[in-house]
Amino acid sequence: MDILKPRGTRDFLPEELNRRKYVENTLRKVFETYGYSEIKTPIFEELSLFTMKSGEGIKEQIYHFQDKGGRDLALRPELTAPVARVYLNELQKTSKPLKMYYSGSCFRYERPQAGRYRQFWQFGCELIGGKPPEAEAEIITMAAHCLEELGLNDYEFHIGNLGIIRGILNDARIIGEEQEQIMSTIDKGDVSGLKTLMKSLNIPEAVRSVLISLIGIKGHKEVINEVESIVGSCKEAFKALENLEELLKVLDAFEFFNYIVNLGIARGLDYYSGMVFEIYVHGLGAQKQISGGGTYNLIEAFGGEEVESTGFAFGFDRLMKALEKQNIEFPSLSRTDVFVAPLSSDMREKAFKIAQNLRRNHISADVDLARRKLKKTLSYADNLGSKYVILVGKRDFKQGMITLKDMKSGNQEPVDINDIDKKLAGLISTKR
Ligand code: AMP
Repeated sequence: MDILKPRGTRDFLPEELNRRKYVENTLRKVFETYGYSEIKTPIFEELSLFTMKSGEGIKEQIYHFQDKGGRDLALRPELTAPVARVYLNELQKTSKPLKMYYSGSCFRYERPQAGRYRQFWQFGCELIGGKPPEAEAEIITMAAHCLEELGLNDYEFHIGNLGIIRGILNDARIIGEEQEQIMSTIDKGDVSGLKTLMKSLNIPEAVRSVLISLIGIKGHKEVINEVESIVGSCKEAFKALENLEELLKVLDAFEFFNYIVNLGIARGLDYYSGMVFEIYVHGLGAQKQISGGGTYNLIEAFGGEEVESTGFAFGFDRLMKALEKQNIEFPSLSRTDVFVAPLSSDMREKAFKIAQNLRRNHISADVDLARRKLKKTLSYADNLGSKYVILVGKRDFKQGMITLKDMKSGNQEPVDINDIDKKLAGLISTKR
């Protein structure tokens, strides 16, 4: 019987994992430069954490179960709600703004396809207790900074504000379930579906045409004037538009200009309340959204005191795909710098000692564990990507010497056994 991995999951072999580690470390460095600290939360949570705000309907999309004690639990489908829970449980009294980042796997019961998995990774952050325009602007700038640091080209950074469309809908008394249905259809980018839905909900023609015009608006700063003329006298929408305008001003100060204002962004989850953004990379097909986030009021919804919060997450798997598609190369993390090969069986124990000495001096070293003949050992070391091989021969060893072979050039030189760690440390640091 073949035992296969579960549908929608993947195995990561060392080479791919090395690339993922490099990208993860790069993101970590950028987040930390902006003052974020990492937190970890459990893989599973109380089911109610996710149904409380998103409704019972979310159960269709998540893995949930009862444990042996009869508790209703769920594998986390995202990390914003868990971080909000941590804040409520432990951090309400901490001085703000609070900047936290996370990297972890999430689970959704979705139809697997390219770029859509049942287990996937999110790398993201939450900024709790900052003032919207500056907190939002800094988060947006940091997301773009990450992509710049990774060398990703050709992406589109779309920024919107949910309050504009919600304002129009609230003004027309289209609220509750009807409003959520509309937002979710906008989120799918399904304009003809939206038209049909609005007709079936008997939404007045004037409101319908305002909505269709608004979601079609895309462009740089100058589109703000256009939006202004469309939202007209709707106070709530106008306030949201002002917030968006303020954000764009602060973005200038952060020197981030590479964005598109897009009022058609609705975001799938209904806890977003104001600014929203998404990043798209062409060439990834339907799953082109590599990141999404915005300003939300989840903490209040969980019973905490009102606190302004903004966050976003990279869909880490899609980010990796985008980097791969653009043939972006990363420094290769070769597994070992040096391989220690005894030339005869009585030199084996000496080889172990040499390897241990190198490892204690922070030089990654592998040693022959397969009792191979020299030719095979050299080809094995070559396959591993070892830069150097230390040949331990009986005659040399008696005189306190070993032979150092440079695998790239093929050159060999005798080296005093007491100097080998210093010699290699120097060679390896210059090669890096
Ligand atoms: P969301 O919480 O839905 O906004 O997701 C944040 C990011 O995670 C999205 O921008 C996607 O890049 C990524 N993502 C969401 N669902 C999946 C999935 N099933 N497989 C892979 N990536 C996903």
